[in-house]
Amino acid sequence: MRQRHPAAASREHLVIVGNGMAGHRLVEALLARPERSARITVIGAEAAPAYNRILLSPLLAGEMEREALTLRDAEWYAEHDIELVLGERVENIDRSARRLTTDAGRELDYDRLVLATGSHPARPPVPGLELPGVHVFRDLNDADALAHAAETGRNAVVIGGGLLGLEAAEGLRKRGMQVSLLQRDDRLMNRQLDLTAARLLENELRGRGLDIHTTAQLERLEADAEGQVCAAHLADGTRLAADCVVVAIGIVPHAALARTAGLEVNRGVVVDEWLTTSDPAIHALGECCEHQGNLYGLVEPIWRQVDVLAERLCRPSAEGVPGYVEQPTATKLKVSGISLYAFGPTEAEPDHEILSYRDPQQGDYRRLLLREGRLEGAVLYADTASGPWYFEQALAGRDLTACRAALLLGAADAQLLLDDASNESPQRPAKEAA
Ligand SMILES: Cc1cc2nc3c(=O)[nH]c(=O)nc-3n(C[C@H](O)[C@H](O)[C@H](O)COP(=O)(O)OP(=O)(O)OC[C@H]3O[C@@H](n4cnc5c(N)ncnc54)[C@H](O)[C@@H]3O)c2cc1C
Repeated sequence: MRQRHPAAASREHLVIVGNGMAGHRLVEALLARPERSARITVIGAEAAPAYNRILLSPLLAGEMEREALTLRDAEWYAEHDIELVLGERVENIDRSARRLTTDAGRELDYDRLVLATGSHPARPPVPGLELPGVHVFRDLNDADALAHAAETGRNAVVIGGGLLGLEAAEGLRKRGMQVSLLQRDDRLMNRQLDLTAARLLENELRGRGLDIHTTAQLERLEADAEGQVCAAHLADGTRLAADCVVVAIGIVPHAALARTAGLEVNRGVVVDEWLTTSDPAIHALGECCEHQGNLYGLVEPIWRQVDVLAERLCRPSAEGVPGYVEQPTATKLKVSGISLYAFGPTEAEPDHEILSYRDPQQGDYRRLLLREGRLEGAVLYADTASGPWYFEQALAGRDLTACRAALLLGAADAQLLLDDASNESPQRPAKEAA
């Protein structure tokens, strides 16, 4: 049943471009606010309504069904009186007329516009990358194409040893392919892991059958007689057979639409702390935007952007709306059977104190970086249960000197010592008196 919202105060027409994770979450946040625009239209280039992109990895690995990814179906949008246009790409924004045009020729007027166009996979300048059989891993179509490639081919080469490359490689391996993974750096997940954790991960994945090449320089891809990719060549002369190649070396914000509309674009669409672009009627959030030189590739900061923008869109001005503030983010790997949790710098600086623990039998590894008693970084491998607690302490900038002795034992022991210390603290006489 359709839900009308008489309380919706603003008569503005709000148009959201992109029905991905950011665009959809913004819709949910707006629906919780009676002051939102009375008329909301969402335009998404993909054929399917918003789905949980994060779960593409377990989908590819065959651990999840397609239906489990859907966030809301088209009926839900209709019930909430939101116009949902799917399978159309916005191609042009006429800012002076406040009108946009899609690739299907649809024209739509807006009062306020939100760009939530995400990003697209980066492609290295390597000969052969345009060959059939070369894939990326970004959306449902890519996951389907990779699953099909695994049914018909035997060998895969994955380019990129970051989160996405590892998840793609494991997914294809689980579907029965022989997978080689190429990493340019000397270690896997070099932006999150120190060398010890990276080697533990590498050994585990090798043990499962992944063929891992670190410090690999991809030179070119080779085509067979039919013009289909058949091998990858490395600078050291190695030739790796490949019926399928997956490029997962990073992402580039989808900013072309904003650029042609004359908005300020650097690497992403430049926004201020209220996610407003250089045009006050246009906002941007998620992976397409750039804030204070930062780009985004994980949902956690994007959720905080959603909260700020939802609030901003329900007010006539930014006055009184708390702006978006950068915060560190923690990373987890979604490969079943491997637990990894990391945040902060990968390398210790000279004034960092390093606390580390390693149990070779259990495969457990923990390394904490502290500066003046405060936690700045952590890498946890195998037992990651205390990861969120460490992250919370780091975000709060808490002095952990009182629980230093128990810090590596995990959250429960360390918190006990912290509680004891604060109960004994002479700074809390009021509580003791009470
Ligand atoms: C396989 C995979 C696994 C991931 N795992 C994790 C994880 O474990 N943890 C984590 O935090 N993050 C993960 N991410 C990243 C996370 O999915 C993204 O950060 C998040 O989806 C970004 O949201 P977004 O809305 O900015 O972009 P998207 O979700 O990509 O949505 C953008 C949408 O806009 C559409 N669009 C683009 N241009 C136009 C246009 N001109 N007109 C209309 N529509 C347009 C696109 O088609 C797309 O549907 C993963 C990503 C992938 C691909």
